[in-house]
Amino acid sequence: MSTTANTIARAEEVITRCKLLAAFSEDAGSIRRTFLSPPMRDCHSEITKWLAVTGAVVTVDAAGNLRALYPGARSDAPRLLLGSHLDTVPNAGAYDGILGVVIAVALLESLEKRHLPFAIEVVAFSEEEGVRFGFPFIGSRALVGSLDEELLNRHDSDGITVRAAIEKFGLNPADLPRTALRDDTLAYLEFHIEQGPILESIGRPLGAVDAIAAQRRMEFVFLGRANHAGTTPMHLRHDAIAAAAEWIVAVEHAAQSHPGLVATVGQISAKPGATNVIAAEARVTLDVRHKSDDILGPAADSLVRMAHDIAERRGLSLRQNILLSQRAVAMDPFLVEQIQEAIRSTGFQPHRMTSGAGHDAMVLAEKVPAAMIFLRSPGGISHDPAESVLTEDVANALECGLHLFDQLANSSELQKRMSRA
Ligand SMILES: [Zn+2]
Repeated sequence: MSTTANTIARAEEVITRCKLLAAFSEDAGSIRRTFLSPPMRDCHSEITKWLAVTGAVVTVDAAGNLRALYPGARSDAPRLLLGSHLDTVPNAGAYDGILGVVIAVALLESLEKRHLPFAIEVVAFSEEEGVRFGFPFIGSRALVGSLDEELLNRHDSDGITVRAAIEKFGLNPADLPRTALRDDTLAYLEFHIEQGPILESIGRPLGAVDAIAAQRRMEFVFLGRANHAGTTPMHLRHDAIAAAAEWIVAVEHAAQSHPGLVATVGQISAKPGATNVIAAEARVTLDVRHKSDDILGPAADSLVRMAHDIAERRGLSLRQNILLSQRAVAMDPFLVEQIQEAIRSTGFQPHRMTSGAGHDAMVLAEKVPAAMIFLRSPGGISHDPAESVLTEDVANALECGLHLFDQLANSSELQKRMSRA
């Protein structure tokens, strides 16, 4: 164990704070905190109290992101961004996103007023999960300038637009351009729970994320013919559910035979939906991901071809629709190398890994070098109240973060970036 008692105490405080923020919820008895909902304001005021002690200057930008600037050694020092998101899914755990913000605050505290050659800006994003408006990353999109009119005019289930939600929170959408990343931003770093079982399975506390997986989400509708379950012989059927079922199993087999490919049929519904009627229509979804666009594209195309072949052989037709197509996003190689080095300095073998889930870092990477550090997720559980994190892993993350600050402060590569900023 390389962590000091002091770091363990700080890690315990991080976990206590995550649990405290979990109480700011829209739902009684479970955690749900969506974009600019009333509990988000409570969350902001609590975090602001912690940040004020560090000497950071705290503001809330027009997209509802809480931003805290901890000055650098010089007033014109460029900025290192450190953040994650404060919103949650319904019935969430206490750590997804929030942990990254609370770790960032604890890192500022750990500096104990020491100032680095770069300023540190903590960004607590207002929205990442896409729960309220059905599209994700409102907070980080604002920073890269891709929160456009169309997105601002989308509405939630109560008919409130993103723009109206911003106004209702007391913010001014006209100020959105001012949320944009400054030219002197050096990099974006994000601590986040892994939300999967890999680090736990190899017995390592921390991982360096080198890419965020490409993903494609699709919807398929197998169209057969409804008929009587008792009078229609098996060889004269056009059963939409049977066709979908054959394809679902084929999807699983195909993904098992492609290293690194994950494919999921997560939804199925059928019509007319009666015990004694052969299904005329079966609607299924597909979510397929890989870290390489070059592998994902052909693999997804072949799953689509399989659906067509199965439909054709069974005398059915098929409708398909792409719901989402997201290219893989590479993390910055220099930062990934630095993170691995910092994990080694903390006393552990780093593990380079691809994130199967999307993150704010993916959006920020459009404009600035970005990278992520994953913390082991006990049981691989996330998006569930059972989500957790080990105190010693948080302590290791804090140590890793401080090593990272020191490495970056002394890095000639960063110095070059700083002189360009
Ligand atoms: Zn998250």
